[in-house]
Amino acid sequence: MSSRSWFSRALLPWYRENQRPLPWRTSPDPYRIWLSEVILQQTRVDQGTAYWHRFVERFPSVSQLAKASEDQVLRLWQGLGYYSRARNLRTAAQQVVKEHGGQFPADHSTLLKLKGVGDYTASAIASICFGIPEPVVDGNVYRVLSRAFGIATPIDSTTGRKEFRGLAAELLSRAHPGDHNQAVMELGAMVCTPRNPRCDECPLARKCIAKAEGRIAELPVKASKTKTRTRHFNYLLIGAKSGIYLRKRTARTFGRGCGSCRWWRPRRRRRRHY
Ligand code: SF4
Repeated sequence: MSSRSWFSRALLPWYRENQRPLPWRTSPDPYRIWLSEVILQQTRVDQGTAYWHRFVERFPSVSQLAKASEDQVLRLWQGLGYYSRARNLRTAAQQVVKEHGGQFPADHSTLLKLKGVGDYTASAIASICFGIPEPVVDGNVYRVLSRAFGIATPIDSTTGRKEFRGLAAELLSRAHPGDHNQAVMELGAMVCTPRNPRCDECPLARKCIAKAEGRIAELPVKASKTKTRTRHFNYLLIGAKSGIYLRKRTARTFGRGCGSCRWWRPRRRRRRHY
């Protein structure tokens, strides 16, 4: 048994007792888990849950999502932002149907080939749905590990990313990789929060180095500060009796002014701009 097995032994019972009853946790269905992971990439759980319900009600299976038009998917996604995620979602669903007969591949490297699926999402699906020991490393995991083990290596450096992934892999429960990964993320979201962590309720408190050394506020370390830049956007609003004219931004023209798309008149008076 590894000298660091205490981590998993402390974390798993805590998770089983304290996890939030999130709807995608009721079954290890890769389609539902994948949907939740993509929706929650840049969205809070309370907001994302309603969208997750909408998607599974409208498209109960990956093959139904694969058959949907881009407009149908974007309309359901409306309000979540980062619309490339919605486009990638549909493309990945088509890949699953065409290349894998409608079944999500049960290995990390093949999952990575799906559009929009990065290391984090592939590890989450592989571990939660197929019991494959792949560690997930997201912002919550960086925070928990840097504090619990007192690691000051910048999390946004190549060395840091390698060190934290290596540590996450070493700590991972081989028997319960899915629960272990979810437990670390849940601890980071609910207890070891960026500000005012609830150390009194933390299952790692007895061994936590940051707590013992009074370094909680210093960790995790980031090498570079987030750069802010001022951007200016100009809008031209063309109104007419019949409605408001909008130019639709498509995946091809996203992010650049394109002369190839046409002005169009919406059927309804108000349409959202993707
Ligand atoms: S004891 Fe506090 S700082 Fe340490 S891992 Fe737990 S919540 Fe985070």
